[in-house]
Amino acid sequence: MSEYKFICDFMLGRLARWMRLLGLNTLYYNNPDDPSILHKALKEGRTILTRSKELERLENVVIIKSENLDEQLKQIKEIIKIKTPLCRCPECNTPLSTVDKEEIRGEVPKYIYKIHNDFKRCPNCNRIYWKGTHYKEIKRKINELKS
Ligand SMILES: [Zn+2]
Repeated sequence: MSEYKFICDFMLGRLARWMRLLGLNTLYYNNPDDPSILHKALKEGRTILTRSKELERLENVVIIKSENLDEQLKQIKEIIKIKTPLCRCPECNTPLSTVDKEEIRGEVPKYIYKIHNDFKRCPNCNRIYWKGTHYKEIKRKINELKS
């Protein structure tokens, strides 16, 4: 469970406290107007937990559905049951390695190369992955999961 790192936004202070009690690495941002939460999340590989649907389009955000603490914790439980998306090759189940962007130039479509910075390669079957549409699909599934 220690591989998961979170940031709760200003609406989720109580949840943040409880997640820490449960041993989860969780930061709490209590200022709703602090944009550094996004930077922090990216830099430290943290998932942002929020009640704000406005952030849904961002790739490292999970929308917390309930206002009730118990329901919220159930949702967290569902999230951490699922392995971090994009850590394992969906074709052959091999853990993916991070690759330098330079290394895969020419191996992915040009427009993909332009808009993404985070690429992974399967050391077994050599496929290249990035946080594109597939990743969004996985994220939507996580958000949809009911406990
Ligand atoms: Zn593979």
